[in-house]
Order: sequence, then structure tokens, then C-alpha cells
Amino acid sequence: MIISDYHIHSKFSGDSNENLENIVNKAKELGLKEIAITDHMDLDVISNNEGPNFILDLDTYIPVLQELKDKNKNELDIKIGMEFGIQKHLGIKAKELIEKYPFDFIISSVHSVDKLLVDQNTFWKDKTRDQAHEKYFFEILKSVESYDSFSVQGHLDFITRYGTIDKKGFIDYIKYSDVIDEILKRLISKNKGIEINTSGIRYMENRFYPSDNIIKRYFELGGEIITIGSDSHKASDIGKDFEKAYDFLQSIGVKYISSFENMEVSFKKIK
Ligand SMILES: [Zn+2]
Ligand SMILES: [Zn+2]
Repeated sequence: MIISDYHIHSKFSGDSNENLENIVNKAKELGLKEIAITDHMDLDVISNNEGPNFILDLDTYIPVLQELKDKNKNELDIKIGMEFGIQKHLGIKAKELIEKYPFDFIISSVHSVDKLLVDQNTFWKDKTRDQAHEKYFFEILKSVESYDSFSVQGHLDFITRYGTIDKKGFIDYIKYSDVIDEILKRLISKNKGIEINTSGIRYMENRFYPSDNIIKRYFELGGEIITIGSDSHKASDIGKDFEKAYDFLQSIGVKYISSFENMEVSFKKIK
């Protein structure tokens, strides 16, 4: 049974057209207890018109989610969330913005390095795969250090999804184990979690983001906070491949996933 999906996009995200009503109906149909709507906010990105705009209008978004939360409170616990596209220079701005609104849950995701979105060619064109990966992981480390106003680190190694054909699909984990360890240790010392993002399976990468070894390492180092999210941009992807995620967590001895309300963490038993 699926407990919760903590990474769902709706029409408020520049890259989704999904209605909140469809999301709520799908979650109820699947028997979920909780969902977090986590639409995109990516500030200070140099746009080269390759993709959509990722600025979220919080003064419209928050009241709509608050109403949805109140309306459904007896059947489905809806969390007011956001996926904040963090960059190392945005920590103070992110803190101000997030603390101004009544969020339950924030995913901190690195989508851009040096103001360039990693899914666009301008980021990759003058870099080898290793240079790109190194920049990406150090950006995560610096951004984790830059603020505390988040709940979990999003799709920690999803950079494999991007780049030209010769660059995508592979990370030399041995080479980056030190920086990945540093990221995990900083997250743990700040009492922050990671997410298991199941979209890697849908994107034909045959794995979660992050990969099993990183998830395992987070718990080995003493981490306790984990959410599972589909990263759905359409309601039909909600809860996809969650059984695989629960089975994996149980196989490494993890018995609880996390739940958030008003940015406070609590724990739910997996089965
Ligand atoms: Zn993301
Ligand atoms: Zn997302």
C-alpha cells in the first residue's frame, strides 16, 4: 500500500498542465494518506528560451493549496510544498521567501549551476562529462551549506538524465564519493532528508534518484529522514514504482518514511 507521494507537480509549474482536482482524485483512488504538491520555483536562471518559465506566483499558489488542504482534510492530507531550485548564491533569498509563507514541506533541488539549467545545452557545451558532474555535485554541497529552510534534497544525482548522448547516463560514483559523503553529512547534521525520486525508472534509467548506493550511504552515516516522490507532472504518474522503493528501503533495514507538517518532521512505518 502506498502511504504518501511527496513530489507532485501541477499546472502551477511551468512544465505541467495537470489540474489539482485530477491529482486529488488519483491520490484518493490509490488510497494514499498524504500528498505534497511541490511546484517549481527556479529563480535567477539565464533563460535561452529552450524551456518554460519556472517562477511560481506564491500569492496565488498558496491560498489555492490552503483551500484544497482544508477542503480535503478528512480524506486526504495535502501538504503545501514547493520544489525550490536552489543555487549556492540563493540561500538568503530562499530563506526569506520560504519563511514568508505557510509551507509544510520544501524540496531543495539543484536544477542550475552558474545560472544555467543543467537540462539545457548551454550548460554542457564547454564541459566534459566529468567537469559537468563535478560542478553539479559541488553546487549541491555549497547550496546545502547556504541555507536551512528546506526539508529534503531532491533527486540528488539526476544529472545523468542530461547532456549530449556521449555524456548522459553515467556517473563515476567512486570519483565523487567524497563530495557525495560531504553532502550527506551536511544534510544529516542539519537534520535534513533526501528523497527517493522514482522518476528515474520512468525516464528509462532503471533506478531511483539517487541511486541505491547513495540512499544506503545516507542511512549508514546516520540519516533518518526520507520521503518518496514520483515527480509526476501528470496525475497518472502519481505513486508509480513506490512498491519498489518500499521494498528497497526494507531490504536495507529502513522501517520508516517521513511526513511533514508546517516544516516539522514525523515518521510513518512502511508496512
Ligand atoms: Zn527537480
Ligand atoms: Zn520535480
